[in-house]
Amino acid sequence: MPERTPPISSRKAKGEPKPELALGTPLAGIRGIGQALGAKLATLGLTNIGKLIAHLPMRHEKLEAETPIDELVPGQIGSARGEVANTRIVRRGRARFEAVIVDDTDRLDAVWFNQAYLGERIRPGMRIRVQGKCQKFGPGVQMVNPRFEILPHAGQETTAMGNAVPSIAEPGMHEERLRPVYPASEEVNSRAIERAIAKVIDAAIPLIEDHLDDAFRSKRNLAPLAQAYRLYHAPKEPAEVLSAQRRLAYDELLLLQLGVHMKRMHLREGLKAPVLKWTEQIDEHIRRRFPFELTSAQNGVIKDMIADLGTRTPTNRLIQGDVGSGKTIVALYGMLLAVASRHQAALMAPTEILAEQHHASISRVLAGSTVRIELLTGSTPKPQRGEILARLSEGKVDILIGTHSLLTESVRFKSLAVSIVDEQHRFGVHQRAAIRAKADDAGTTPHVLVMTATPIPRTLAITLFGDLDISTIKALPPGRRPVRTTVAGLDRRLEIYESILPRFDAGEQAFVVVPAIDPGADPQSAAAPAEELADVRTVLSDLEKGPWKGRRLAGIHGRLNRQSRDSIMERFRAGQVDAIIATTVIEVGVDIPNASVMIVENADRFGLAQLHQLRGRVGRGSRESVCILLADPATEEGMQRLRVMEKTADGFVLAEKDMEIRGPGELFGTRQSGLPPFKVADLMRDRELLAMARRDAAEWIRRSPLLNRPEESLVRRRLLKAYGPSLGLGDVG
Ligand code: ADP
Ligand code: MG
Repeated sequence: MPERTPPISSRKAKGEPKPELALGTPLAGIRGIGQALGAKLATLGLTNIGKLIAHLPMRHEKLEAETPIDELVPGQIGSARGEVANTRIVRRGRARFEAVIVDDTDRLDAVWFNQAYLGERIRPGMRIRVQGKCQKFGPGVQMVNPRFEILPHAGQETTAMGNAVPSIAEPGMHEERLRPVYPASEEVNSRAIERAIAKVIDAAIPLIEDHLDDAFRSKRNLAPLAQAYRLYHAPKEPAEVLSAQRRLAYDELLLLQLGVHMKRMHLREGLKAPVLKWTEQIDEHIRRRFPFELTSAQNGVIKDMIADLGTRTPTNRLIQGDVGSGKTIVALYGMLLAVASRHQAALMAPTEILAEQHHASISRVLAGSTVRIELLTGSTPKPQRGEILARLSEGKVDILIGTHSLLTESVRFKSLAVSIVDEQHRFGVHQRAAIRAKADDAGTTPHVLVMTATPIPRTLAITLFGDLDISTIKALPPGRRPVRTTVAGLDRRLEIYESILPRFDAGEQAFVVVPAIDPGADPQSAAAPAEELADVRTVLSDLEKGPWKGRRLAGIHGRLNRQSRDSIMERFRAGQVDAIIATTVIEVGVDIPNASVMIVENADRFGLAQLHQLRGRVGRGSRESVCILLADPATEEGMQRLRVMEKTADGFVLAEKDMEIRGPGELFGTRQSGLPPFKVADLMRDRELLAMARRDAAEWIRRSPLLNRPEESLVRRRLLKAYGPSLGLGDVG
């Protein structure tokens, strides 16, 4: 992971008479931190004051005001402190650990279920603070599973983890307080970090330089950076956390957007792409090949594309359209424009199955033309691969279709003008950069068009793909019938499989999607008790013996070799197989118009966006299609989530919902995108800040494309440190 910007420059504040500490001062030497704690903090990379101050809390926890034990109120959250009078571990029934806590006023019973190990930590004679919901218990009060903190004896503090750290004065415990919760580790817990920060914060704050000037800040109602750091580490009230959070989140978003816009500006100004001319004859020539009239939604996007490709500025456009909206043909139009100008085009798909399918369908559309098409994937045999590469570099291949293997060093084009990336959500920023690097000898760089059928919520699109222009195919081709979606419990499984039989008799086909390939534990949750997951092998044999006996069934998954997979898909396409039982290898792109049934087993294991993709495999022909989601979700929430699928067919709505429920990281994985995760910003919560940061960054880069004015040196340095490597700003900076 790229290093984060320490938000603090190592320069000392001007005009300070005798600066005792600097941001670069090592922690181990600081009074009150010392060698032992210093060494532990170093394991988190926190070696000096600046780095420690840049280590921000993940969240803030409310500490209730303490009361004497006899003032705790049953039914309410309360907090109290006292001495542990005695403890016991109960192993029969529900195993639990119990402690009796006494103060001058009364006794309190604390009980922790399934945490017998607390017996090692909480011992009679210790002073302890507990916080939790109070319940009536006999004549007194009980807390169940309270949060606790072991309090120091005179002169020494012991943290809840049992580490001894030097004592600091406890803040007033009779008021509510917000405690920062830090990313911590085995060696050093959040409390120890909090105390170390308390040691240095007063000295550190005046050293923090702001990269935004007063006027800029006050116009946007943003706190000064130093103040934001102080409030985030040591807030007195929630409003202070919010104010700090606003500034710090804005900074993260602004720096990313500055990087994205800088990169984009660089592309515009610095790189040249082939100009692809468009004429009515060329247009007519291309469209003559197409098996159908394009929809006006498709034509709209093609218009954007023609305008892009006709300039020397490398195109960088995201084409998003819901599942089945017909992006492939739009991509093909772009590729054929390249070929018409005697250049080459590439189409990159996320899976081999999809690459194979594109190759087959494009070959069909272009059958009888002079366009030379080749397929290159990880499964292409070596000799054949060598031969394709040789012809490619001589310009004897017009369209190359493949997987990410197209990105490898050995793949050289003679004159690549258009690169299409299908299903972008599977590719990150890095890959896009690698594609663009496939420049030819003349030093031109290709136009890049990125297709996605997983609609990207606007917020994410802006963040991750802010360097792209966006076109959307808003409508589906005519004649599509909506897919009827049903959520059903496992008790209806047999009945549901049987209900499909008449469809087979009518010549229709089905997909059954399962989460696993083989029987066995769920690889995703090694710790959790293994839930029974449907797998290709078991479901296939169950169906063969049971409800679908005598039907032509086949299993497909990622471990199958290409030939077997190809031949199954071919037989399915030709109607020689009634149903395919598959893992999510068929999730994206697979286009079999005759398939009208999608059954998903363990549907609660999939994200909404993914289910929507799967559902998109049917409803492509004129037949009335069904999508059946089989699941018995363990929670009401899980059920609600699946019900959303019944209610909406709009991929954008689903994607937004998915992001709300599972978080953006789950959906696209910032890791996958190649960007470092945000520490403070939250794309759901901070939508408005993001919009503001985006506007500000665009405006700023327009005025100063390289951020090289003297007053910008701080923001530039912080930007390059945070996002330089991940955005590939090396050539810019
Ligand atoms: P996606 O956007 O999901 O990649 P595809 O490009 O695979 O969608 O198209 C889905 C199906 O719709 C394909 O069978 C394709 O041939 C068909 N199709 C695309 N555009 C049209 C159109 N304008 N009229 C009729 N069918 C179309
Ligand atoms: Mg597609």
